[in-house]
Amino acid sequence: METKGIIIKDAKHPRDEELSEAARILRTGGLVAFPTETVYGLGGNALDKRASEKIYAAKGRPSDNPLIAHISCMEELGPLVEKIPKAAELLAKLYWPGPLTMVFPKSAQIPYSTTGGLDTVAVRMPSDPVARRLIHLAGVPVAAPSANTSGRPSPTTAEHVRQDMDGRIDMIVDGGPVGIGVESTIVDVSGAVPILLRPGAITQEMLEEQLGKILIDPAVFGPVEKGIRPRAPGMKYRHYAPRGELVLIQLKEETRAQLRTQESPLFRQVYQSMVDSGRNLGLDIESYYMASQVNQAAEAKERTGASVGIICTDETIEEYHIVVKRSIGTRESEASLAHNLYGVLREFDELEVDYIYSESFSQTHLGQAVMNRLSKAAGYHVLLV
Ligand code: AMP
Ligand code: MG
Repeated sequence: METKGIIIKDAKHPRDEELSEAARILRTGGLVAFPTETVYGLGGNALDKRASEKIYAAKGRPSDNPLIAHISCMEELGPLVEKIPKAAELLAKLYWPGPLTMVFPKSAQIPYSTTGGLDTVAVRMPSDPVARRLIHLAGVPVAAPSANTSGRPSPTTAEHVRQDMDGRIDMIVDGGPVGIGVESTIVDVSGAVPILLRPGAITQEMLEEQLGKILIDPAVFGPVEKGIRPRAPGMKYRHYAPRGELVLIQLKEETRAQLRTQESPLFRQVYQSMVDSGRNLGLDIESYYMASQVNQAAEAKERTGASVGIICTDETIEEYHIVVKRSIGTRESEASLAHNLYGVLREFDELEVDYIYSESFSQTHLGQAVMNRLSKAAGYHVLLV
């Protein structure tokens, strides 16, 4: 199949003529990749069983991993769901359109092939102008998982989509690089207490400000045990992963406590080493120590003859002597880390490194989403130091 491409001239104000063919393809059962504010989506008609099957085939995705249905306005929600809980109404008012997906009891209209056999359906109203106009013009809810081959890092540019989907789908709509860079937050509002299934740009803190304490699905923090069916079925698969083996270096709570205590031997030793190195005294001691630990692990691996890459930040990049090093942003802005994460993981694939060592980041706000994706990409391979 030939994959057509269209470039939107002004992605903030797409013109209907630019999107009409893509909308027609969606309406008639074909597949179109398009930008959203989170990552690029691979769209098909959510009401058409055959279209969802095509999505699973194009991605190589297991068919028990449900799809998110995307809508363009509130009127389109009613027909897809059995009921709209109070919490959902509140969150929709505040965060739709935007990077928030909610899980509802599904209506009979939604085929089980879209929900991976579940009686619930995940729905989102994206804010990206291209996505929203396209869904509106298509006139159907659009099932759209990320437009990557299953398991690979999600695409944040149209070029990433082409790498994975060329020849497998009907069309790619190029609206430029996405804004946020990690997938939407998913909250299950179908039960008595809302449950966070996947962290994203609408953070746990933002949700709890509205709803009070919410539950966090255990799959957000760690691997799902064998035999247990997770509430967010996507969580059981290895995800977002580069081809090289990724290892996350994380500081133990005990190490951090010592680094905060000026009398501790570790503090003195690390501080002395910072002074001796004669540079970068602006770097905080925790980041400096983390970088030294990442360096050690990476250099030991390099000595075995393997090719090694480093994921670090603007603050620490000068600390590394390894050739292949990439900053994913600044520790001052979690949004910058989210924005660049997948692009850097894909770059390491092109560079064909065997091992990637990554610094870890704070788990608050958008950092929770960054760390969630990084730990999954690492297959939960974390080195505690
Ligand atoms: P993606 O399309 O790659 O952004 O992933 C969609 C994810 O949404 C799935 O992997 C699930 O984890 C989650 N999801 C979709 N539908 C449901 C549902 N009905 N109940 C719970 N989680 C869902
Ligand atoms: Mg995905």
